[in-house]
Amino acid sequence: MATAESDVQAFTARAFSTPGKFEEFCGNGGQALRGIIGGRRVQGSMNATFQTVDPGSQEVLATVCEMGEAEVALAVESAQKAFDGTNGGGWRDCPLEDRISLVKKLVELCDRDRDVLLACEIRDGGKVSELAEGDFTQIRECAEYFIGVASRVQMGDSEAMGVASGVKGFTFREPWGVVAGIIPWNYPIVLTSWFIFPALLAGNTVLIKPAEDTPLSALYIASLAEEAGFPPGVINVLPGRGEITGQCIAEHPGVRYISFTGSPGVGQSILRTCDRHGTRMKREMGGNGSAIVLGDADPEVVARRVGRYVNQHYGQTCCTIHRVYVDQKIADSFVDAQRAFMEALKIGYQTDEGTQLGSVINPTQQQRILQAQNETVSRGGQAILEGGLAEVVGKEGFYLKPALYRTTPEVDCNPLEVFHTFATVCPVESAEQALALANRSPYGLGASVWTRDLERGIDLAKQFRDGTCQINCHNSMAYGLPYGGQGISGGPGGGVNCEDTFLDYTQVKAVYVADYPG
Ligand code: NAD
Repeated sequence: MATAESDVQAFTARAFSTPGKFEEFCGNGGQALRGIIGGRRVQGSMNATFQTVDPGSQEVLATVCEMGEAEVALAVESAQKAFDGTNGGGWRDCPLEDRISLVKKLVELCDRDRDVLLACEIRDGGKVSELAEGDFTQIRECAEYFIGVASRVQMGDSEAMGVASGVKGFTFREPWGVVAGIIPWNYPIVLTSWFIFPALLAGNTVLIKPAEDTPLSALYIASLAEEAGFPPGVINVLPGRGEITGQCIAEHPGVRYISFTGSPGVGQSILRTCDRHGTRMKREMGGNGSAIVLGDADPEVVARRVGRYVNQHYGQTCCTIHRVYVDQKIADSFVDAQRAFMEALKIGYQTDEGTQLGSVINPTQQQRILQAQNETVSRGGQAILEGGLAEVVGKEGFYLKPALYRTTPEVDCNPLEVFHTFATVCPVESAEQALALANRSPYGLGASVWTRDLERGIDLAKQFRDGTCQINCHNSMAYGLPYGGQGISGGPGGGVNCEDTFLDYTQVKAVYVADYPG
């Protein structure tokens, strides 16, 4: 049944109770959760631990060991051994059917423990259930898509071609070897899946570096992988701070390829480190998403739709709409409707029924968002909803109110990714003016056009300097279509979740064979 437009809602929580198995996993018999290296649980030579908390209540969920330089070196060695095997028989030579059946088994175990993985997202990540449940479906969808790709892509030798008299040439496609995935905190299940499935199916062994705010999903998935029967060393998990664990991974020349998802500044710095020793890297980074609303759109209907993507995971989504450019003819009604939608968001604890705007991930983010709200006004934005701190009775989380501003084309008050339920609305004279303003950002991840005229929408959308350009929808993603960024939001490469992504986890050599001289 089609949803009436007036029913289009923000992502919303249903009541969620934490399963005992999640608590058992976090408690770990009174010991800190350890890194997973070569099939062993490793405490770490730095003897350092950190706590991961539920952001909505500040309850400590688990204590986790931090992995340092020695553990990164051990993980690279273990992963390389698992890749090569002893006298062959390593992951690189494992028949594709066997890799596929291990991946399928892992997916089944994730399905079995769905509630535990949902608890990782909801409790550790602070997400509402509607979004976490959607994230969970990505495990199976991603695995199945890349099983299909792996079954079609020809690894090994291509057909030979004649190069010159007595000389032939062909290409040889193989996995890189040890590859690392550096993951941000906002979508841990999704981004762990997007990394491990193509990487493993292509024949690589992996190091997963989860974010320090949300390390639980990757640790749990890796323990399920062990149960599924993945050989030791094929999947390793290195929890820790970015500037310690992450930096050591970037500096290790034994890591042949890094898939980084996170902020542009960190991505740029890792790229420079990798370049020093030839590690290849792909980067999926932040955005400052825009939406253009044309004059033929119904301002109230579109404000609800746009509002859903301003508030997706409380704005802590890479493709969040932060900038709206709306035809001046409908601007007043649009702003009113946008304010009504944002004002009505139910602020609360993320496991309580009906919550739509929960806590941000940590106190540093909370401060950064407050600062951005102040700066938007000092740069000339006119506050419609002022933002500021919010309180949730009985909870000590990092809560904030939504912020909405009206601005003008001359005022550039929203230049950075704010990562909260935060948007500026700028009335414009024409779609062309809107496009020029949308494209003045150095980010280029996701943008949308809202109009009844689909052809005009398509024509405009293609002119965005963004990796995903959408008409009457925002942040849609489908396997087979690349999800990636332009400008400072991504690259090199075309994005994730398409055939090219699988090829990114392989390297190609040209082989020339000449007849023996004489
Ligand atoms: P971040 O850049 O701070 O951290 C990302 C990861 O990098 C973490 O695991 C962190 O520990 C690690 N890291 C930090 N410093 C490092 C260093 N010097 N060397 C190596 N590793 C280091 O990002 P975040 O705050 O965790 O995540 C939010 C950002 O991620 C936002 O910008 C968001 O838009 C972006 N993001 C992008 C996508 C996408 O698909 N394009 C998806 C999700 C999130």
